[in-house]
Amino acid sequence: MSQGIVTVAYIGATILFILALGGLSRPETSRRGNFYGIFGMLMAVVATIIGIVADNYFILIAAVAIGGTIGITLAKKVQMTQMPELVAILHSLVGLAAVLVGYANFMDQHNILTGIDKTIHDVETYLGILIGALTFSGSIVAFLKLSAKISGKPLLLPARHWLNLGLLVAATILGAVFVSQSAAGSGTFPLILMTVIALIFGVHMVMAIGGADMPVVVSMLNSYSGWAAAATGFMLNNDLLIVVGALVGSSGAILSYIMCRAMNRKFIAVIAGGFGTSGGTTVAGSEEEAGEIIAVEAAEAAELLLDAKEVMIIPGYGMAVAQAQHTVHEITRKLREKKINVRFGIHPVAGRMPGHMNVLLAEAKVPYDIVFELDEINDDFPKIDVSIVIGANDIVNPAAQEVPDSPIAGMPVLECWKGKTTIVLKRSMATGYAGVSNPLFYKENTRMLFGDARESLDAVLKSID
Ligand code: NDP
Repeated sequence: MSQGIVTVAYIGATILFILALGGLSRPETSRRGNFYGIFGMLMAVVATIIGIVADNYFILIAAVAIGGTIGITLAKKVQMTQMPELVAILHSLVGLAAVLVGYANFMDQHNILTGIDKTIHDVETYLGILIGALTFSGSIVAFLKLSAKISGKPLLLPARHWLNLGLLVAATILGAVFVSQSAAGSGTFPLILMTVIALIFGVHMVMAIGGADMPVVVSMLNSYSGWAAAATGFMLNNDLLIVVGALVGSSGAILSYIMCRAMNRKFIAVIAGGFGTSGGTTVAGSEEEAGEIIAVEAAEAAELLLDAKEVMIIPGYGMAVAQAQHTVHEITRKLREKKINVRFGIHPVAGRMPGHMNVLLAEAKVPYDIVFELDEINDDFPKIDVSIVIGANDIVNPAAQEVPDSPIAGMPVLECWKGKTTIVLKRSMATGYAGVSNPLFYKENTRMLFGDARESLDAVLKSID
């Protein structure tokens, strides 16, 4: 394939990736966006294999076959609730690839380039490996936290900010040493030392982040994986990799910024760690002090819903665990047939990944026009007769507003307690992801419907019929 055709294919793939991002920004067009992305990637891979790779086709095809088989098997096996972990582990692979390509390229090009070209190439290599290594180790820790293999509580070392600063300074000095040694024909040692530092930095950065701030970390690692790919693109002189890396890097950075704004956090403060410091503190002292809870059965919950004119459904992580979205849609349909105004209130960090609830509701074919973001409907709660909280906890926790030293203090929450009645569906009194107990459950206008959300909702649906 001539270079001209490769360039045309790359431009086509770039346009498809931009269309994919545009499509993914709205639920109505997200399926189309996904297809654009798939075609773009297919085009990019085929053009690269046919047009750029000149040798070793056997190794390449074997690697694609092995990687593809692992990918397909994992994607088939993974549950919807495990998607965030899958995303985290995939980010780690992007980071690892950047590190390996960086080393391979360093060894390959070491004695070929000279002068300013070599210096520029060395800086690209250094940055690619640095970002790749911290993305790799940070994503592995994020994976372990999200899959609850290690505690979600923040690890706060006494001098953590100094440690971060020290690592940053060391990495910068090593960069200068690497470039000067590389010009003289060596440089492997500072490169390895920097890789170790970047790995430590990645682990420390994610370990220091508290439960409720994990969404920001996931999107931030997404952004880093993009920048690692872009740096690799510079290193390999591959325009498509630069463009795609920059698209992923900047969209991840924008998402992190949006998440921070939605959670009322400062980006730098989240990255430096320190939010969610007290981990699993209770809110109002012991549970006895917190007050009484009022439990109801499904039939009573159904009656409350049937008596209402305005209903707000608040889905959370438990809806994903119970796979209750289809029953939720059935109930919504039935209530709307009875002229009850049903809307959905979606918190930006509900579930375990950005857009988690929107994906589930779209899958169940809930109409988009009754699904609202937190800031669109939070003022409406005083007019709501019944809010039904389905497997959500942190996103409806009044402690965020009422308890200044709570780990989730300052995070905007759906203020369902301001409505007439709130029905909370969950299995027990357990805390949510941030490990904070929830005073909502003890309010006198709250009714607890205990059990698996899907089973409870099936019973509610029967009573509505
Ligand atoms: P939470 O994790 O706060 O609460 C979920 C609740 O669902 C739990 O209290 C649990 O209680 C209940 N639950 C679990 N399984 C079931 C089931 N089968 N049936 C009924 N209830 C069930 O979820 P939220 O959505 O309220 O908040 C999301 C949290 O996750 C936030 O802290 C957010 O910061 C964090 N997070 C979000 C990410 C994102 O990108 N969206 C990424 C990483 C973290 P019980 O065990 O008693 O049933």
